[in-house]
Amino acid sequence: MSTASESVVWAGAVEKPDPATAELGDSQREYRALMRKWWFAAAVGAPTMILSYPWILPVLGDWLPRGSDRLRAVWVAMGVAALAVLAYSGSQFFSGAWRALRHRQANMHTLIAMGTGIAWLYSTIALADPGLFPDETFTEVYYDVTVVVTALVVLGLALEVKARGRSSEAIRKLIGLQAKTARVVREGRELDVPVEEVVAGDLVLVRPGDKIPVDGEVLEGTSAVDESMITGESIPVAKAPGDAVIGATLNTTGAFRFRATRVGSETALAQIVRLVQDAQASKVPIQRIVDVVSGYFTPAVMIMAIGGFVLWYDLGPAPAVAYAVIVAVTTLIIACPCALGMATPMSLTTGVGKGAENGILIRSGDALQSASRLDAVILDKTGTITWGKPVLTDIVATGAPESELLRMAAAVEKASEHPLAAAIVAVAEERDLRLPPVDSFEALPGHGVMAAVEGRTVVLGNRRLLEREGIDTSSLDGDWQRLADEGKTPMYAAVDGRLAGLVAVADTVKDDSVAAIRALKGLGVEVAMLTGDNRRTAEAIARQVGVDRVLAEVLPEDKAAEVKKLQLEGKRVGMVGDGINDAPALTQADVGFAIGTGTDVAIEAADITLISGSLRGVVTAIEISKATMRNVRQNLTGAFAYNSLGLPIALGVLYPLVGVLLSPLMAAGAMSFSSVTVVSNANRLRRWRPKEIST
Ligand code: ADP
Ligand code: MG
Repeated sequence: MSTASESVVWAGAVEKPDPATAELGDSQREYRALMRKWWFAAAVGAPTMILSYPWILPVLGDWLPRGSDRLRAVWVAMGVAALAVLAYSGSQFFSGAWRALRHRQANMHTLIAMGTGIAWLYSTIALADPGLFPDETFTEVYYDVTVVVTALVVLGLALEVKARGRSSEAIRKLIGLQAKTARVVREGRELDVPVEEVVAGDLVLVRPGDKIPVDGEVLEGTSAVDESMITGESIPVAKAPGDAVIGATLNTTGAFRFRATRVGSETALAQIVRLVQDAQASKVPIQRIVDVVSGYFTPAVMIMAIGGFVLWYDLGPAPAVAYAVIVAVTTLIIACPCALGMATPMSLTTGVGKGAENGILIRSGDALQSASRLDAVILDKTGTITWGKPVLTDIVATGAPESELLRMAAAVEKASEHPLAAAIVAVAEERDLRLPPVDSFEALPGHGVMAAVEGRTVVLGNRRLLEREGIDTSSLDGDWQRLADEGKTPMYAAVDGRLAGLVAVADTVKDDSVAAIRALKGLGVEVAMLTGDNRRTAEAIARQVGVDRVLAEVLPEDKAAEVKKLQLEGKRVGMVGDGINDAPALTQADVGFAIGTGTDVAIEAADITLISGSLRGVVTAIEISKATMRNVRQNLTGAFAYNSLGLPIALGVLYPLVGVLLSPLMAAGAMSFSSVTVVSNANRLRRWRPKEIST
């Protein structure tokens, strides 16, 4: 029953020590306060209902006959009690209506305040001076409407606050993951300190079964760590010196020491919490349309209520004023912009939380909505479909011995930062080759490298580079094709302008890439692969993993243009990459998915970050987005249907047809029920589980 802005109470609450728990405490307090208000209204409501129509019970009717002074006295007392209910239980409606009025706006508070207020005012005037109204016989009061409507709406509000508290469960769970203490070594002594006191650079001990307190890098010891709570990946990850560990993950059976690198608000967990909170506070784009509609909705309802009053006063049965007031009040009460206002924020909060639970960080409502309607997904090859850790597999030397070729190639690659370079250097070092120093090194992105080694010019790279240098590569065409068809990346080496051989590396496909790609296609998404690698190699890999469309030999600076090309075909395109030389493409895409590795959660260019590094995350992210948007649509449809049915009935269209007129009490019940329905539907999302993807 809140407006969108109220349901995002934790927005920006990041600076506080424990924002989510503070927020949860707030919603607990709010719930209890509302329940007290409910009890008061209900306690007044029960006798008020009976005493408004005492003649229904013969005993009471005899004691309080119509027109008697005793009945008048009882009704005056009821009027006072009803005023107390308005002032206490209904206070938030009047203050909310007043706040809105000061901004020249009207909202759900305005409608409830007007509805209950008019019922009270009319009753009081009728009681004070029955002669004011043309139907002199009429002396009924509607204090029961005031009291019971307030009670029902407050109860609905309480249930909603409670559900809202539950929907931020994801944040509570995340924060609950944090370790309380850490065992650190200071001045040679081991001591347990509260986790807040760990500083970057501290030496931290982790024993079997311990929770890892902060982010860091392993110094000594080995173990396997269960990182599922952060990455969603269920298999424990092996850790050895040099590996990164994430705070809040769980050590299994080994023991190790690590150096703390990020503590406090810098840790991966803290960043995740922040990201999730920001996303939950954002808006689904549909909501902007809903906001516009809601803006017109409340004034429209007021106009309808006035119209209803006038019509019933002119055309309705006697007592005309009484019917006219009832119709106006019922109309004001039944309209429920609250269901409209809650329809999307509740689902978004739950959906984003679900993502976090599964190692998927959805940055905003925009990202979520776009992800739910992707037509195509482009996967970067290196580091996304494959591990991005190529190893040297073949050397084909034409003149000099193999080791000489490797020595020259590795000498040049030593200066390069490319993963391909690392693979070549690693083998040279394994073979204890002495790498000579190089001069005038040049890296040509998307092409290869060149340098002067021992006075000779060495060129290493793809065919494009060799052609550029005017070196004929045809003598090695056969070997090149064979290697490329095996999915390896062959690189030409030339010395002093003459072809010297081939060096090929292979990158392993990640275990679950094939299954994830199949699942993506199952969702009706076209899957393409993007790479700077040559077409033949790319197509071999594409065959291995089941990708239909290959965008190969793309220069790093052209990756974004390839995304755009697909978008120009009218497709909504997702791009999945590791952020290494594909950040512009991630930004260009409708949804940029960054494949993270453990601690690097804050990848700026991405709309969605997949912490686990598995492509399955893309599938899960799309499924969560679809489920959330489906939920949003159900809520909106429900709220819309409710209002388009409820309003005409409240206005009395059924009366001339079948003689049925809705009472304000039923309207209040229906209104509370509709908001509770929206909330419960959003809560259904909490039961969402990712489908098992078989490998
Ligand atoms: P990707 O991002 O898909 O790995 P790049 O644009 O980085 O592709 O590289 C494209 C191609 O350029 C590589 O497949 C390789 O043939 C060549 N290349 C790039 N850098 C190097 C290098 N340091 N040494 C040799 N070849 C390279
Ligand atoms: Mg890359």
